[in-house]
Amino acid sequence: MLMGIAMLCDKKFLIGVLVLLMVVIPAGGQTESRPHVIVVGVNGMEWDIIRPLLLKGELHNFAEVIQRGVYGKMRTLSAPNCPKVYTSIATSTSPEENGITGFVVAGKTASTDMLKREPLWSILSKNGVTVGMANVPATFPVMPLNGYMISGMLTRGKGCEDGILCSPKLSEVKGGEAVYPPSMVAELEMNVGDFWIDCSRMPAAEELRGKEPEAIDHWLQQVSQVRAQQAKLFDYLLSHHRTDFTMLVQSCEDRVGHWLYPIQPYNAGYDPTLHSVRVDAFPDQYRALDQVLGKVLQYVDRNTYLFIISDHGIKPLREFEEGRRLYHSAHDHGGNTPIIAKHDFEDGDDVPGIFIAIGPNIKRDVRLMGFTVSVFDIAPTILNLYGIPKPTQMKGRVLSEIFETPSSQPAKPSAR
Ligand SMILES: [Zn+2]
Repeated sequence: MLMGIAMLCDKKFLIGVLVLLMVVIPAGGQTESRPHVIVVGVNGMEWDIIRPLLLKGELHNFAEVIQRGVYGKMRTLSAPNCPKVYTSIATSTSPEENGITGFVVAGKTASTDMLKREPLWSILSKNGVTVGMANVPATFPVMPLNGYMISGMLTRGKGCEDGILCSPKLSEVKGGEAVYPPSMVAELEMNVGDFWIDCSRMPAAEELRGKEPEAIDHWLQQVSQVRAQQAKLFDYLLSHHRTDFTMLVQSCEDRVGHWLYPIQPYNAGYDPTLHSVRVDAFPDQYRALDQVLGKVLQYVDRNTYLFIISDHGIKPLREFEEGRRLYHSAHDHGGNTPIIAKHDFEDGDDVPGIFIAIGPNIKRDVRLMGFTVSVFDIAPTILNLYGIPKPTQMKGRVLSEIFETPSSQPAKPSAR
């Protein structure tokens, strides 16, 4: 483990964390006096799909958190994609400032070595807050922190090429560490198994042609396996490595939406051999996510803050933005899957993210209108829960209006 730490410690803003490594919190050792915060991030969560399911009463856990908290849209970046937006969420700075401008930066897959602004987990760690992170996009190679980190989207490994998503299993990771501390790898292999770190790569056009139903079903089976593994991982981490701050991210929703969004024949790119096969594939992702949320909610007591966020939504293609490269994936995730929905529209307000918050002193059943919340506001708001002032480089603000008591400090957690 010591060698692993030495290898990882050349990150400029994390050196201060070293001191704290001496006090990595063991299983079940959360410090009672600090707020307990869980952030569930979902890639490309889309209200247009969730709302009809809520109306039909199908998403019980979503319905519960919405009723218990504050919810609404979240303003995202222009031409949003996961690595870029999650890094802006973590640093509360623009992609140009923080260095992660997309999947690929200067010809190379975005990585934590390119990060130029201090992320939330580093600031929390330096302030003695225990931190747990799993599957957050653009966190590879992992960084030393006061807790644990398991990387997410853009983890490099077997079959990975620059600019094209891949989905290595834990045992297939190459070019850096995917787990911090490294000693946790064996523990995860024993208790969770050899899990996929990111959702499955989308099939190529030639893999689909002439065998659409079989190829779609095969891919969806893989997606549900990935989700089952992620859910097992989250359950294990929340039960065996409780940390003050925990951030867990799911990424299959976005991937499914890109090519199996339930579009209509009038939409650009509609192909009945593909799009009439499994029209429920995308809504099914939210039904499955609702089950994962149910598991996470078992760890949310009345003193826990739960934030559910998505980096952006996803919408069917628009010909005026696509030009002649209509529905051929020149953008989003690379590859050559025939995509029919995307998120990297120039006007990010066309594909807003989602913000939901519940917890002590957070208002109940309040819908935030318009773009009250932006991706830059998440980090300052979470820092504020721990009484840590917003660093000057952060663009966002503390979302004081979501709390019952609008003060710079949220109410102290009540006795259990
Ligand atoms: Zn995407």
